[in-house]
Amino acid sequence: MSVDFELVRRAIGENASLDHPVASLTTYRVGGRARVFVRVDVESQLERVAEVANAHSLEVMVIGRGSNMLVSDRGFPGIVVQLGDFASRTDIDEFTSHGEIGATIVVTAGAAVPLPVLARRTASVGLTGFEWAVGVPGSIGGAVRMNAGGHGSDMSASVVDARLFDWRDGSTRDVDCADLGLRFRGSSIGDDTVVLGARLGLTVGDRAACEATIEEIVRWRRENQPGGQNAGSVFVNPVPGEVLAGRLIDECGLRGFRIGSAMVSTKHANFIQADEGGRAEDVFAVMSHVRRVVADKTGHVMRSEVRLVGFEETV
Ligand SMILES: Cc1cc2nc3c(=O)[nH]c(=O)nc-3n(C[C@H](O)[C@H](O)[C@H](O)COP(=O)(O)OP(=O)(O)OC[C@H]3O[C@@H](n4cnc5c(N)ncnc54)[C@H](O)[C@@H]3O)c2cc1C
Repeated sequence: MSVDFELVRRAIGENASLDHPVASLTTYRVGGRARVFVRVDVESQLERVAEVANAHSLEVMVIGRGSNMLVSDRGFPGIVVQLGDFASRTDIDEFTSHGEIGATIVVTAGAAVPLPVLARRTASVGLTGFEWAVGVPGSIGGAVRMNAGGHGSDMSASVVDARLFDWRDGSTRDVDCADLGLRFRGSSIGDDTVVLGARLGLTVGDRAACEATIEEIVRWRRENQPGGQNAGSVFVNPVPGEVLAGRLIDECGLRGFRIGSAMVSTKHANFIQADEGGRAEDVFAVMSHVRRVVADKTGHVMRSEVRLVGFEETV
């Protein structure tokens, strides 16, 4: 069935656009165009998008901060949705009472809230438990979906529940943390579901200590991780805490390995960097090569932590 995309665009609303470059929406800054793109500022528009997508059998993909995603140079043939204003709020400003040290406070954050922003704001009012997220450049929605984590913690340590929207029937529901299937860098949240926001249980602590932890993490990240165009760690550690992907890649002598516009970082072997103006296909080719060499030499088959969009093979 051929789709009249101009009709689709008009049906979604005037804020939808056609052939929108995806690169600018991701930290890799490579990849093709979204056939349709819409930034949804009002929650009720999601239902409209769902109706239109279902009517035309179009795939929908929600994008957060694009920091865990590699979109192919061919782009995405369906509708890319970015959550806007309605999902950008937190109630952290309403937290004024410092309560008793050790008390649990529940904070609400929309899916589009950047993790570093929430980490800094919770620390600045003396809430502890979310400092680890200051160096993870994703959104709450993307972080819940893949159970982002670092520095000995992850989303599952604080998520109380999450508000989910279902593309298939346009329904919304609150789901307890225990039912989200959060596991090491993954969850049971699939492509048919959008995280609209989450409630996090944090602990009243000492503000100066929280802020010192934030500064320490920022310093550690600067010293140990490369800047530039990447999506953080590319492969999930085969055995968390024991068999580390970066170490395996290093042992195979792949630090600095390059194909075209992409290379294994010389600073952190589990990062793959793209050059300015580079190609997603090159990043993918480096990933495939690294995965093959590590499997051949060490027997560990690494799985991609990065969401691959529009590639025929998987890594
Ligand atoms: C420099 C750097 C360092 C990083 N360090 C870490 C780290 O220490 N620990 C770590 O875990 N990760 C790390 N990451 C990866 C990344 O920041 C996290 O995985 C983050 O949680 C991804 O969030 P996002 O909003 O960018 O998701 P995106 O990249 O936009 O999307 C990732 C996946 O989540 C889905 N998604 C996004 N938003 C939603 C939503 N609202 N509802 C449902 N699905 C959604 C997308 O469809 C996609 O499948 C790092 C990345 C970079 C660039």
